[in-house]
Amino acid sequence: MQAVREFFGTFMLTELLKGMRLTGRHLFDDKYTLEYPEEKAPQSPRFRGLHALRRYPNGEERCIACKLCEAVCPALAITIESEQRDDGTRRTTRYDIDLFKCIYCGFCEESCPVDSIVETRIHEYHFERRGEQVIHKDELLAMGEKYEAQLAEDRAADAPFR
Ligand code: SF4
Ligand code: SF4
Repeated sequence: MQAVREFFGTFMLTELLKGMRLTGRHLFDDKYTLEYPEEKAPQSPRFRGLHALRRYPNGEERCIACKLCEAVCPALAITIESEQRDDGTRRTTRYDIDLFKCIYCGFCEESCPVDSIVETRIHEYHFERRGEQVIHKDELLAMGEKYEAQLAEDRAADAPFR
């Protein structure tokens, strides 16, 4: 019986009519298509894009080379080398992130005790030469300096939930 019903349903184009009825019902609804890149979808303060290293307001690097981010990274994308400074504090001499390995999980950001390594809202970037996907400490710090206002604002917005 089911097979007969399906045969006549196909013959009478009922599936097509059902589809057209659904289309017609939403024909004059508000449209949700964005004209990217001119229009952008809203982003959460927790958006996980390109990484950055932050500094304190006095210019000192936040990172204390504890290597928690390197240890927690599931993709083994972070490479850190460090040394002790004359004042007894420890700072990184090398901080690399391989963006081809990174899966943007945010674990590095979550693990950092001093809010040093963070992920920005930047998701539109490209590489033109082999090796450029490894982003170095000076580039990460420059990113942090450039976007500090937005980064601080996003951290403050997320603080009540952490
Ligand atoms: S976002 Fe995840 S995968 Fe990428 S560097 Fe951080 S911990 Fe590693
Ligand atoms: S970025 Fe944070 S977690 Fe990673 S080594 Fe520096 S202080 Fe530690």
